[in-house]
Parts: sequence; C-alpha cells; structure tokens
Amino acid sequence: MTIVGHFIGGKHVADAERTQDVFNPATGSPEKQVALASKQTVESAIAAAEAAYPAWRNTPPLKRARVMFKFKELLEKHADEIVALITAEHGKVSNDAMGEFQRGVEVVEYACGAPELLKGEHSKNAGPDIDCWSEFQPLGVVAGITPFNFPAMVPMWMYPMAIVCGNTFVLKPSERDPSASMRIAELFQEAGLPDGVFNVVNGDKVAVDTLLANKTVQAISFVGSTPIAEYIYSTATANGKRCQALGGAKNHAIVMPDADPDYVADNLMGAAYGSAGERCMAISVAVAVGDEAADTLIEKLKTRMADLKVGPGTDVSNDMGPLITSAHQQKVKGYVDLGVKEGATLVVDGRELEVEGHDKGFFLGGCLFDHVTAEMKIYQEEIFGPVLCVVRVETLQEAMQLIDDHEYGNGTCIFTRDGEAARYFTDNIKVGMVGVNVPLPVPVAYHSFGGWKRSLFGDLYAYGPDAVRFYTRRKTITQRWPSAGSSEGVRFAFPTNK
Ligand code: NAD
Repeated sequence: MTIVGHFIGGKHVADAERTQDVFNPATGSPEKQVALASKQTVESAIAAAEAAYPAWRNTPPLKRARVMFKFKELLEKHADEIVALITAEHGKVSNDAMGEFQRGVEVVEYACGAPELLKGEHSKNAGPDIDCWSEFQPLGVVAGITPFNFPAMVPMWMYPMAIVCGNTFVLKPSERDPSASMRIAELFQEAGLPDGVFNVVNGDKVAVDTLLANKTVQAISFVGSTPIAEYIYSTATANGKRCQALGGAKNHAIVMPDADPDYVADNLMGAAYGSAGERCMAISVAVAVGDEAADTLIEKLKTRMADLKVGPGTDVSNDMGPLITSAHQQKVKGYVDLGVKEGATLVVDGRELEVEGHDKGFFLGGCLFDHVTAEMKIYQEEIFGPVLCVVRVETLQEAMQLIDDHEYGNGTCIFTRDGEAARYFTDNIKVGMVGVNVPLPVPVAYHSFGGWKRSLFGDLYAYGPDAVRFYTRRKTITQRWPSAGSSEGVRFAFPTNK
C-alpha cells in the first residue's frame, strides 16, 4: 500500500515508523497510509527551512513573485489531478473540490503582488533633515497546521503569503487527507522554489507539539476545531511565537419575512448541505423571523431535500459526498439522535440513507430540524455534518441576540429585501464575516478571513492584507545625515518638531 511520507528540503522523505490509514470515504476502505512524523523528522524539516531562509529572505520580492506566477500556472495545469486527490481522500464532490482549489489559487494570485504589498512606508522630513521609514521584514521559519475539510485551500491561505513575504515554511496538513499538499509541494519546486523554502511534514500531535516547542519556529498559523485552536494559541504564545488560530463555527442565517422564499431555500440548500456540511462557513442554523416565514422555509426545504443527491464525489451529478470518517459519521448521527431526544422536530431524517454500491461508505443523508431552541446541544455545539437546525423567533432583534450570545462568531448572513434591516445587521452583529443575501460570505483573496469570539484566537486574520502583517515584522528606521559642523550641541529634552 502507498505510504504518503514527507517533503523536506526538496526531497521525499520516508520516516514511516508510525503510520495511519487514509480512507476513501466513499468506499470506506483504507487506500493509502500516511507516515506520522517523529520529533526528529519535524526537526529536520525545521532545519531545512532554517538553512533556506537567509538566501530566500534576500531574494528580491519581484523574483519571489515570479516563482508565484509560475506556481499558479502549474497549479492550473494540474488542477484535475489535485482535485481527484481531494475527492479520493476527503470525499467532496469534484466540482466542489475544484471550487476550493480555485479559491486557493486566488491567494497565490494575490501573492504575485508581493513587490507592491511589501513596499513599506516612507516619510521624508519626519524631523529636520530626518527621514523615517517602516519596512516589513520576514519572520524566519514559520509553520502551518491545517484541518481535513479543505485539504488544498486552507494550507494555501497560509504558505503562499508567508513564502512570498520572504519566510520559509513547514506545513503539517491533516493526516486524514495529506496527498494534495504533497503534490502541490512538488509543483512549487517545479516552479523554481528553492529547496527547503516549503516543507511538508505529515503527522499527528507529535509533529504539532514539536513545531510548538521549537525555538526556530517564529510563528504558527492554525485552522481547525476550537479546543485544538485554543491549545495551539496558548502554547505557541507561551513559547514566544506569533500565532493565529482559527477555530470552529456555528453559522446562522436570518430569514426575514420579506425575503424571497425560493431564493432563500435554494441558497440554504447549498450552504447547509454542500460538502456534507463539513465547512467552517456552512450555515447550520436558519433563524426564521415569524412563523409564516418558518413554515414556508420548512416546506420549501423539504421539497428540495427530496431531490438531494448523495453519493460518491467522483460523480458530479451528486450534490454531496460522504463524511470524512466512520467515527465522524457516527458522531453526526449521534447529534441527530440527541436532537430528537432534546425535543426538536426532525422534519427530514437522513440517518437511514443507503447509497447503492457503497454500503461501506461514510454517507449520511441531509437532516432538517424544526423548533430548535437555544438550550439544545444541537444548537450550541458544532455538528460539522449535513444537519440544518431551524430556530423560530419573533423579531430581528431576537434573532440577532441569539447570534451575539453564541460562543462562535465565524460567519452569518441575513436574507432580506429591507436595506435598513440589512444595514443594521451588518453594522451591529458580533460576527467576523457577514453576508447580505450571500450565505457563504468567504472573503475574496484580497480581503482577509477570520471570525470573532471563539472562532479565532489571535489578532490577525488569514490571507489578504492581514497575512502581510502576520508574516512580517515591522521595523521603523529614523535616519539623519548631518552635514559637517551642524551639531546644535548637547540636548536633554525629548526631541520633538516644536
Ligand atoms: P482538528 O482540530 O481535529 O485538526 C486540525 C489540525 O490539528 C490537524 O492537522 C490535526 O492533526 C491537528 N490536531 C488534532 N488534534 C490535535 C491535538 N490534540 N494536538 C495537536 N494537534 C492536533 O480539526 P479537523 O477535524 O481536521 O477540522 C474540522 C474543524 O476545523 C471544524 O471545527 C471546523 O469548523 C474547523 N475549521 C475552521 C475554519 C476556520 O477558518 N475557522 C476553517 C476550516 C475548518
């Protein structure tokens, strides 16, 4: 069986003393194994990155950007191959995998603008004959730790920007779907990236803890579940590292009574059940304002769910694929059982779904709950599966209070035709990414991505302008070239422009 190893210093490295199965979730069978890196292997990746740093730091940004242009070309040329790897290991339908891949490539496109992004700030005559400028210097060796649900896109939120800013990088992808990052590392090398600038170590907690403890690693970007994000953030910062740790979510969509019901239902289907609900921006709660809006919504969703096609991701006529593992499938089913016990109304039950010819696959049909309340665990916790909860409220204020009181604050959306309500909502809601009639408001590559509350630990968001700030350290230089004999003597007062 193929063992997915590591990519260190421009070479494939085996270190497969410990391994773990990588499943095809559609068939339920282990098709590969992934090596779980030892502490020594991770340290060798850090050492390779450290060795490559001085030359890469001093490579002109324009030349770094040229590598990015070439990298983008190669990614596009090999898109189908990478998408096939994503579908084989994650399970998502291949057109959805292509969507995530393209959004990742958009970050590479943004990174191509490095010379402009890194220009810095300059002030002539900040004082008499004094010029002052700020430059943005790379940090050194930085690392990324990523989740299973976007095996190509989320790593690409991190390393293109880190690398184009002059850093060298160690990526620790999810051990559940490691192959896309390995293939991308080869393409990056083919694009002309010097060996050691981008390294991939596969592994588990051993690899993560080695990255967290190692003094050479200057910064950690993490995306994953909230308990691990909190652990990463507290450990990394206690060890003196810069850290951004993006966590879990429970994203609400408010459905106002004036919204177009067909537009709402069509959009909620994709936002709740696309990628089997395994998206950190998936809408998992619809908050209907007024019983009439709620009744209409439930009827429209029911009709659409009858046509929801679930099956292997290789068949693009399917709407959603399987869940990532058998354990996760059982966990999500457990939440559906719990919702019934908690007293919510299970309007559509996907638990008994069978996919012909794929009886061992980790499939679960779409589930829809009505009359969910804020006290229920199915409302409070992130389920991360194809389960949509409908909560009924009377007013927009009540809907917004519900969202503000929730521990997560990643994404949210309002469906309405009322500009005043939409403006009030976008201005006041305590959530990081907000949509108006846009259910998945994932910012484009030249903005930045991040949630509020327990969906993000740290100050700077992923990719976009925040990434330039995260992956560089500001240095401000104040300079005077005095002409001979211009000294005004000893001065003890603090210098000002007075
Ligand atoms: P996860 O937290 O289980 O794993 C994420 C990474 O952390 C993986 O690389 C994994 O190997 C590592 N890890 C897991 N347990 C660890 C431990 N005990 N110590 C050290 N490292 C550990 O997350 P997942 O299941 O892969 O991904 C799903 C989660 O990610 C969901 O909660 C989802 O909301 C979240 N997510 C958030 C965003 C965002 O932008 N906020 C984006 C995508 C996914």
